[in-house]
Amino acid sequence: MSSAIETQPVGTAGGADAAPFVRIEGITKRFGAIVAVNRIDLDIQRSELFCLLGGSGSGKSTLLRMLAGFEQPSEGRILIDGQDMTGVPAYERPVNMMFQSYALFPHMSVSDNVAYGLRRGGVPRAEIRKRVADMLDMVKMGDYAQRRPHQLSGGQRQRVALARALVKQPKLLLLDEPLGALDKKLREETQFELMKIQAQLGTTFIVVTHDQDEAMTLASRMGVMRDGRLVQVGGPRDLYEFPADRYVAQFIGAVNLFDGVLIEDEPGHARMRCEEAGCVIHVGHGVTGTLGQTVHLAIRPEKINLAHDRPAQDENVTPGTIDEVAYLGNLSVYQVRLDTGRLIHVTLPNLDRHEGNVFEIGNRVYCSWGPASAVVLPA
Ligand code: ADP
Ligand code: MG
Repeated sequence: MSSAIETQPVGTAGGADAAPFVRIEGITKRFGAIVAVNRIDLDIQRSELFCLLGGSGSGKSTLLRMLAGFEQPSEGRILIDGQDMTGVPAYERPVNMMFQSYALFPHMSVSDNVAYGLRRGGVPRAEIRKRVADMLDMVKMGDYAQRRPHQLSGGQRQRVALARALVKQPKLLLLDEPLGALDKKLREETQFELMKIQAQLGTTFIVVTHDQDEAMTLASRMGVMRDGRLVQVGGPRDLYEFPADRYVAQFIGAVNLFDGVLIEDEPGHARMRCEEAGCVIHVGHGVTGTLGQTVHLAIRPEKINLAHDRPAQDENVTPGTIDEVAYLGNLSVYQVRLDTGRLIHVTLPNLDRHEGNVFEIGNRVYCSWGPASAVVLPA
């Protein structure tokens, strides 16, 4: 991974030889004047758990609905398992979709809800019984088979909906905000269950979420959408460490953003003069820009160190005063007012609380970071 400023083609899995399981080619969807999905190319491999992340209205559900066959693309085409889906109706696609509302039948038992699709498909009775029982065991709902949906908690209803979506053994499962109705703690537990089930079945999952922590936890790869476009695709770590632009940097976790002016640009390092930061920022890679150009710099709060005494370095160090401290148990978040007037966030793990490591409101401090800590983003 060299410089973050060189743009890489968005959406391709990067050198994978295997034919993609899902191929989205130049897909656009217009509703009148609204461009809900704008020229998206994306490959997804078999057995991937891929997350589509983006704010409300960014086009996530529309893209999912085109994969399911509920909407027709205005342009482009979708291939699933090598087959062109153009003109293939929803019920003939090897795809199932789980909706946020779960849409369970209220008058049917849990087991009848799960069996419903198999009965309609004419699967023999004995086989239905076995597949439903196996699937309810997998989602840990075996003991609730005879209950009605209203006798279940939100988390239990979510698991029944998952069982119902998986019992027909789709090759591709689409999940639109699957955990949206659950409270935070249950949501986190269910994320791990979902990952376990996905790994066990090997079904390809595409999960839509607006929650970046959820995407970071679940995904093998993720794509960030904004205004109908796919702005970056990569593993959670790639997106966090090497965001393609300011939007992704801010969307994926907390970040301190600065503007700087490029004053030196060599293959192995670059320097930016940064008035807001109050120092010269040195990064350990070239940025292929022009001298004098304005660039954006992103520094994650956990990449910044605090010290009472000035560290022995001239660059990547700037003085300030502790403005606010939030103790979060395993870590503390500090707001530091730099001498330039700019407020930045710094997080430190609460490993050892010996004298030199305690920072309180009003303390004078030095903020510093290493050459690999700042990411240069295209201006
Ligand atoms: P997301 O799921 O990311 O919140 P959507 O895909 O639901 O976003 O919507 C993307 C854009 O397309 C929004 O501006 C939305 O209002 C519009 N849109 C979605 N469905 C329709 C529709 N059936 N008719 C008109 N506009 C729609
Ligand atoms: Mg949506």
